[in-house]
Amino acid sequence: MVGKTVIETSGAVKGKVRDIIFDLGGGVTFLVQGTDGKDSQIPLSKVTGISEHVIVKGETAIEQGASGYGTTCKFCGAPKPAEERWCPSCGRSQT
Ligand SMILES: [Zn+2]
Repeated sequence: MVGKTVIETSGAVKGKVRDIIFDLGGGVTFLVQGTDGKDSQIPLSKVTGISEHVIVKGETAIEQGASGYGTTCKFCGAPKPAEERWCPSCGRSQT
């Protein structure tokens, strides 16, 4: 299993299986080395099939929004965290 290519159902290559983690609760998690070199963990529940490749549900963005920028300032257009009431760039109130 280790070394198999991981492909999303959308057809996008996600990376390669680097290790498989078995936890005490009986859960299985695939440790996948992404094409960008970063590891990510994919629970077995997201795996839809294993043949020549490991097929996972296409949902790249489990941690999307990690950048913290959910919106933009309505005055200057600078990226701004959605929960932030004041623009970090121009300082104007967003309410
Ligand atoms: Zn602004």
